Amino acid sequence: MVLYSYLFRTFFQEGKPMKTAYIGGILLDGTKDMVPQKGKTVIVENGRISAILSADELVPSGCEIVNLKGCYLMPGLINLHVHLNSGGKPSGKKKEPEDYVRLVNLATSNPVTGEAVRALMRGYANTALHSGVTTIRTVGGISDYDGKLRNEIEEGYRKRVKAWKSDVTSGSNSLADMIRKARTGMSRIPMGAAAPEGLGALVRGSAAGAAMPGPRILTSNTGISVPGGHVAGSLAYPVTSPEEAVEYVHKIAEGRPDLIKLMITGGIMDAVKEGEPGVLKMSPEIIEAACKAAHDLKLPVAAHTESTEGVIAGLRGGVDTIEHGAMPTDEMMELFKERGASLVTTISPVIPLALLKTSKTGVRPMDRYNAGIVLRGIIECARRALKEGIPVGLGTDTGCPYVTHYDMWRELQYFSTFCGVSETFALYSATLGNAKIAGIDAETGSIEVGKAADFLITAGNPLESLRALRKPKMVVARGALISDPVIKKNVAIEQTLDSLLKVSYDDLDRLIRKAI
Ligand SMILES: [Zn+2]
Repeated sequence: MVLYSYLFRTFFQEGKPMKTAYIGGILLDGTKDMVPQKGKTVIVENGRISAILSADELVPSGCEIVNLKGCYLMPGLINLHVHLNSGGKPSGKKKEPEDYVRLVNLATSNPVTGEAVRALMRGYANTALHSGVTTIRTVGGISDYDGKLRNEIEEGYRKRVKAWKSDVTSGSNSLADMIRKARTGMSRIPMGAAAPEGLGALVRGSAAGAAMPGPRILTSNTGISVPGGHVAGSLAYPVTSPEEAVEYVHKIAEGRPDLIKLMITGGIMDAVKEGEPGVLKMSPEIIEAACKAAHDLKLPVAAHTESTEGVIAGLRGGVDTIEHGAMPTDEMMELFKERGASLVTTISPVIPLALLKTSKTGVRPMDRYNAGIVLRGIIECARRALKEGIPVGLGTDTGCPYVTHYDMWRELQYFSTFCGVSETFALYSATLGNAKIAGIDAETGSIEVGKAADFLITAGNPLESLRALRKPKMVVARGALISDPVIKKNVAIEQTLDSLLKVSYDDLDRLIRKAI
């Protein structure tokens, strides 16, 4: 029955010329000073915005009409810091680095487990899309799986555009065509088509995977760390010398990544001492050699850094984006400006670790203490960078405990609450601001003629309350309309995180000392 209605809908929608007019919405264009614009019609053709009409202009004939009935249409969100290998469900107990190495070895040891992991990743990417995130930048994954998923999604997009273009001329709708199109490139996703997630995706995902639109993926594939360093041996290759770093940059480049990721310092969980999170682990020589090799290949470099000395070492070595951040200094700010580097703020993974009781999170008291230091560092780094005019982007570090693939809106909320920016600036940061940092602002990030039709459509106005982003009405990914996004949320995580929404900037010091 499901298959029948799926094909039936596809049958009726595939034959139409793929020109769609989004009418009756209120436009938020994604720019820094965006104001709601009423009466605009956005025309989408072959996945791109072909015109934006004002109220007195006629909608061209032959358009499929999507009436937004007063909803808000804005650019799809961009999440700059994602890991696709995990869903963000807290395990309740601390995992050791060897546990991750073992998992990754299992995932890469044979084709069956490899395909199961890729199906999970596909499901997570779909969840992100259904939550309104139309671009993700993945910064540390298993082997070249992220790149393969990116290629699969790109292939699906190309097939979809081809199908749209041929529909305009032939309008053919034979049964064979109908099935072929359903397999290769739906123009419209049937209502209620849930994102495949979990192992069930193994069955559903591989059939639907090619046809379903995904978020645009920019990826580093596996990163580079040092022995005993952050995610060494699981999501990053441990290297011991500058020469080896160059070798690995070239090895990673074979999977055609969009960037290179370095793990310069440890993470919260890697600390062996209270008060020492984010210890600098990568030598300046390795950082510099890896950055030079990456830049020679025209690949930007993102670096995991969670201490002041780590950020400074990264910037000196030539990294382009500092991921996370740490307590700022004058020297750090000068280096950001001198190098033209950007900061990618990730408040989402640290808030629960720093503010929740260890009996809840399952981490050691030392980890919670160190999370408090990292949280302060990330927030103060972002506040200072904003003041100094340094570009600040947003990512969630999805895949960390409590950070699910559907919660990008919380990062905007945290950014607004803790870094003191307006809702408008938070939305700008997650759209055009992030697009600029990722170097894709010619393609996406704002509602402009010529750009990809990447839209998030909400009932409420996010410039008044960012919670409006929490439940999208519709999502459009490069022209493919998801008319009824479905997200399966984890109720326990939702309740826990919602209890943290009341925390203000002024509460932080007190709560870091005394957990909730
Ligand atoms: Zn990360």
